[in-house]
Amino acid sequence: MSFLKKMQSALGTGKPPAVTCPYCNATLDIEPDRKRKCPECGKTIHPKRLHNEEQKRFVTDEEAARTDAANEEHHRRKRVADLEQRLKDAQKSKNRYEEAVAHALIEAEAGNVDRAWGYYNQALKETMKGNQMGMYRCTKFDMSMLLKQEGRHKNAPVLLSEVCYLDYCEYHGLTTPVFAPGVLGEIRLAMKRSGTDMTAFRETFISMTQQVSAVKTRHPPIQAWQALETALRELDSRPKGAA
Ligand SMILES: [Zn+2]
Repeated sequence: MSFLKKMQSALGTGKPPAVTCPYCNATLDIEPDRKRKCPECGKTIHPKRLHNEEQKRFVTDEEAARTDAANEEHHRRKRVADLEQRLKDAQKSKNRYEEAVAHALIEAEAGNVDRAWGYYNQALKETMKGNQMGMYRCTKFDMSMLLKQEGRHKNAPVLLSEVCYLDYCEYHGLTTPVFAPGVLGEIRLAMKRSGTDMTAFRETFISMTQQVSAVKTRHPPIQAWQALETALRELDSRPKGAA
């Protein structure tokens, strides 16, 4: 170490303290901001921070995997605790819709898909009681996400058809975009993974939305489909990586 570096280090104005390789104890003159190989022993050094630590440490492959697993478990517990709080709040305020959704999310988190599905159906019934189509639409979208989580994309286009139809009815004629880019992206993914082409999706969309239109609104499904098809083709024609 040069005299200047020693002085900087002593005064606390220089670089951060030197990093030691967790395998061979070699001193590295730079602090890795991502995983990189030790120039001395060639093994991979990982900068990692455990959820309750302030500073990152430079660790081995094995400890990096342990840290990732511990962080994931910490976040999972936090999600469960948050959902349980959400359930308590819903029960306290006697919000039956919110209660069913919280139950559904708790079951989904625990991997109990059938039970989650049952609670989502309860939530849908609650929205129908008050004709709360916005909440109905959100629940249908959440259900399509549950299918995605389970790798069962086959039925997702049906749910997403309803979501898009309701968005069309809601935002049709306004200056805001009718279809959310996130929803269009999910449709594209579900179509791809379930092997649904545009013609098949059109059939799904029309038959599904005819049932919705009986409940809700006078917008002809065919008009909504034309808008959706245009939006999907536009999405396809965009260069990769564009927002
Ligand atoms: Zn090393």
